[in-house]
This record gives sequence, structure tokens and C-alpha cells, in this order.
Amino acid sequence: MISNALKKLNDLFGREINYLRISLTDRCNLNCFYCEPSRCYEKFPKREILSVEEIIYLVSIFYDKFGIKKFRFTGGEPLLRHGLKEIILGVRKNLGDYVELTITTNGIFLKNFAKFLKDTKVRVNVSLDTLKEERFKKITGCYGLSNVISAIDYAKNLGLQLKINTVLLREINDDEIPELINFSRENEVKIRFIEFMPISIDLNLWRKHFISEEEILDTIKKKHELRFLGIEGIERIYLVDGGVEIGFISTVSHPFCKGCSRIRISSEGKIYLCLFDHKGYDIKKFLRPEIKEEELCNIISDVVKFKPEGFIKFKEEGTLPEFGPVMKQVGG
Ligand code: SAM
Repeated sequence: MISNALKKLNDLFGREINYLRISLTDRCNLNCFYCEPSRCYEKFPKREILSVEEIIYLVSIFYDKFGIKKFRFTGGEPLLRHGLKEIILGVRKNLGDYVELTITTNGIFLKNFAKFLKDTKVRVNVSLDTLKEERFKKITGCYGLSNVISAIDYAKNLGLQLKINTVLLREINDDEIPELINFSRENEVKIRFIEFMPISIDLNLWRKHFISEEEILDTIKKKHELRFLGIEGIERIYLVDGGVEIGFISTVSHPFCKGCSRIRISSEGKIYLCLFDHKGYDIKKFLRPEIKEEELCNIISDVVKFKPEGFIKFKEEGTLPEFGPVMKQVGG
């Protein structure tokens, strides 16, 4: 099927949206201390969660009407979502390989889905912050690191396209960078280091554990040769010892807001225009047969216009974002 995009999705800063992340569930089997800080968040009632059909319909609308080809399924933990396979099969049935599908997972259940994800050409990012089981427990509240490591190995052998995402946390995992780079080299899986963002978290906890790309680079440089290769999308890429490429996503020290091209839809069907903005625009109520596609598309393009500047505004003002919905609710 060839996209007959009618409109481009642009905001008032002139940025074009070409990437949609959809949260399939706000439930997660892990409780990472930085993702769901001490505060208990209220889970969305199950009846409020977008249905399989609604998600497939939304992907089709964003592709057909706005020409969006890049979609990421996230959460919560997307592999916990009932109907995950139906969603992916439904999207592939409607849109074939015209769309790029990716998923972000904590990897605990990846082995069960690896073959399916390979067959349906879904690329996978696995979140992995440590290679030490006790630390894994400290960070996530659960044991399970061995499941993640063996799932990475299994998925890699199947030929699934994988990347690892590591959130860097001072005094938690910042001493493990060499081991993680080594893991990436040995397993031939790209690794991206993500700066800890002040999102719905006790800001003292954030200040305590935030560590910048520069600081990490200084540490790496003490023992390794490091060369900056350039910027790919939102990633800053370096070559370590002439062999391994590592990426940094440094939202805090190098915000990429001016070129941000993404929006999110939460599992209860709200559009979030920026992780640092707390307003969610309900579009679920417009996913009814009596609402014409045209009306839905007008609503989406009107909402997108108001995409805020992003973290860069806080950085320029020297302030920090207030508490809003947690990552599990918005979709990480
Ligand atoms: N459960 C899936 C997973 O673990 O990948 C998907 C959802 S999770 C919220 C997505 C990613 O967001 C994970 O890599 C997690 O480490 C990251 N994340 C959560 N809170 C963050 C924060 N405050 N700053 C940076 N990354 C964060």
C-alpha cells in the first residue's frame, strides 16, 4: 500500500512529526526505582486501555493521513500486553512493510516473543542497566537479570535486530560502563547510554543520580581511545578503541528538542507531545464509528501544533519540570 499522506503534522515551532510511540499498557513486571519513584501511581482501569482494534486503527490513520512510517510500541512493559501479537499482525496486514515497527522491552519475556518479532520484522530495544544480579534487584526491585541476558543471546542468534539501552545512574551503575561496552562488543549488539531525565521523580533523587555524558566520556577516555563520529538522529555516536560504536542520548546535557519529531500516545489514549509536558489530549473519545476520519485527523493536527519547546526551555531558564504522570503512564 502506498501512503496517500494528505497532511504533514507540524507544530508551531515548525517541527515535523514523523515518529509515534504508543504505550500498549501502563503495567510493568519491574519496578525500577527511577521510573516509578516511591509515589504509587494509580493504574488505568483496564476498560480505559486502548483496544487492539483502536491501536491498529490509530497506526493506519497516522500512516495514511500523515505519512508517519516509524512506530514504537512501549509501556509499561509491552510484552505483558494481551493482544500484542494481534496488534502487530493487524498493522502488518494493513500496512505491510511500509511501516517500521520497533518495541522497547525490559527483556524478561523476550525469549517467548523473539521468533514472532523476528518473523514480523519488529526491531527491539532491550533496557539493561547492569550486568550484576544484585544490582539488577536493587534497581528493578526484582531478580531476573539472567532471563534478560539469555534472551538477548537467544534473540541475537535468531537474527532479531537488537539494541541495548542503558540509563546511567551515578553511584548505581556508572562504574559498569567498561563491562557494558564489553558486553556490547562481545554480543555484537549496539549500546546506547541514556542520561537520567528529571521526569516525575523526586528532584533530589535525580540530582543525586544524574551523571552527564561528558563525565562518562572523561572516565572512558582515561583507559580507552575515544573518537566522536557524529550525530545520528538523537544519538551522539563515539568509537571506542577503533572497534565498538557507542551512542549517547543526552536529553539533559545536549537536548535535541529543536529537532524533536516524536509524539506519544498513552495506553489510555491520550496524546502527549513531550515527556516534559504533563498535558495529555484525549483522542480515545474520538475513536468511535460515528466520528469521521477527517474530524479525527483535524483534532490530531490541531493538538500537535501545541507541542511545547521541550526540556531546552527548562535548561535555558535554569528550572526543572514539575511532577507529572510517570513514564509507565505516558510510555517511555
Ligand atoms: N518496560 C519497557 C522497558 O523497560 O524498556 C518499556 C518502558 S520503559 C519506561 C522505557 C525506558 O525508559 C527504559 O529504558 C527505562 O530505563 C527508561 N526510563 C524510565 N525512566 C527514565 C528516566 N527518568 N530517565 C531516563 N530513562 C528513563
